[in-house]
Amino acid sequence: MKQFAVIGLGRFGTSVAETLSRMGYDVLAVDVDAEKVNAVMDIVTHAVQVDALDEHALKSLGIRNFDVVIVAIGEDIQANILVTVMLKEMGVKTVVAKARTELHGRVLAKVGADKVVFPERDMGVRVARALVAANIVDQIELSPDYSLMELIAPREFVGKSIGEAAIRMKYGVTVLAIRRGDEIIISPGARHTVEEGDILVVVGRNDRLRRLEQ
Ligand code: ADP
Repeated sequence: MKQFAVIGLGRFGTSVAETLSRMGYDVLAVDVDAEKVNAVMDIVTHAVQVDALDEHALKSLGIRNFDVVIVAIGEDIQANILVTVMLKEMGVKTVVAKARTELHGRVLAKVGADKVVFPERDMGVRVARALVAANIVDQIELSPDYSLMELIAPREFVGKSIGEAAIRMKYGVTVLAIRRGDEIIISPGARHTVEEGDILVVVGRNDRLRRLEQ
């Protein structure tokens, strides 16, 4: 079972720590602010008040033994970058760091962050897309060019089989699954008919996926 540590318990860090805990993972939550630590005390496995810039204190937490450490310090960009560097130097295998801007993200990648996340930017994109395209349920970026998307079946597909709708040929995307109420049809064949209200799970190039938005 993977062990996680979250450093910085603002809104983002707290949400990550709580979600991992609910999923049954061991989570060490760290913040310099005792109030933030107290707020998650009953939710996570361990919560400690430590200044993550204090290298000795970090080491004594055994931080290098965690599989994944999430640097969720937000406003203090300097602390965010320095902690990321220290964690990599200590030998933490996977460091996920939260970036505030594109440039900050590039710096984090240069200093060794294994994954850089942009929660504000990504949530802004999601909300904007959901406002414009009412049929998009969710989207996961797989790479800068490809995404996995969940969408309510576009009108022109309803009543047709996947083969008749020629989804792959015309749109260049692949239907991985269909969600119909509680039922899930994995890898539907060409003969499978799309019904009204079906949710399609599709994968493809971002520009191709855009054409399915309504
Ligand atoms: P968010 O935008 O996700 O709410 P914030 O920047 O408001 O993020 O919160 C980041 C958290 O990181 C705060 O709770 C702050 O106390 C904590 N933090 C800042 N610097 C350090 C540090 N050096 N060590 C540990 N925690 C820190």
